[in-house]
Amino acid sequence: MGTIIILFALALFFFLRLKYKSPEYKGSIGEARVARRISDLPEQEFTVLNNIYLETERSSSQIDHVIVSIYGIFVIETKNYSGWIFGNENQEYWTQTIYNYKNKFRNPIKQNWAHIYALKELLTDYKFIKYYPIIVFTGTAKLKKITSKIPVVYNYELLQTIQSYCEEPILSPSQTNDIVDIITANNIHDEGIHKKHKQNIYNDKYELEQKINSLICPKCSGQLVLRNGSYGRFYGCSNYPQCKFTRNIE
Ligand SMILES: [Zn+2]
Repeated sequence: MGTIIILFALALFFFLRLKYKSPEYKGSIGEARVARRISDLPEQEFTVLNNIYLETERSSSQIDHVIVSIYGIFVIETKNYSGWIFGNENQEYWTQTIYNYKNKFRNPIKQNWAHIYALKELLTDYKFIKYYPIIVFTGTAKLKKITSKIPVVYNYELLQTIQSYCEEPILSPSQTNDIVDIITANNIHDEGIHKKHKQNIYNDKYELEQKINSLICPKCSGQLVLRNGSYGRFYGCSNYPQCKFTRNIE
């Protein structure tokens, strides 16, 4: 009897450990933290839409948070990470360092631009509108050497960052309501489609890594060559300057 309880406890322990270490779980915790933070914004001025999933002709986007306001639309990408984070606006990948372990992840600013394009495709009647991309790090991550004009902030800085853009109203309340309606009407709730989206991201990433590992440029299928830059060695495309693909080597 005792052995069964111990085995059960062990199984539960490993199950929970796996669950809480999974990127999906960490991601959802981060999103919940940010959602709680932005729920403090005054309701009359800001409509918060969490976890919006849009499919356009060219792409599908899962947007963590969209805030529609009379000042424009805030598009927020959340990262729940630990360790030290390095990156700049123009890189394809950013780096997370934990002790000697290094991990690459897709530049969240570029990810967020793709989300804004998806919203623009949807809101063609509002071409004049302003979009404010913001990247938020929750968790214990320390932002090191992040070079970016787009705000990359900690969760506690989020509200003041949003408020810093709230100067001149550009939309009427009825226009913001209309925008909220358009976004919610196009939000896809279907779990099956979400899973497919994740699978596609995974496949794209895998394919990209495979190409780079075989020294094929993922942008133009040219040859990748090792070059020396002022920040160290990197892979560049042999079709430079026509193709500007690079990949840093750490
Ligand atoms: Zn190329």
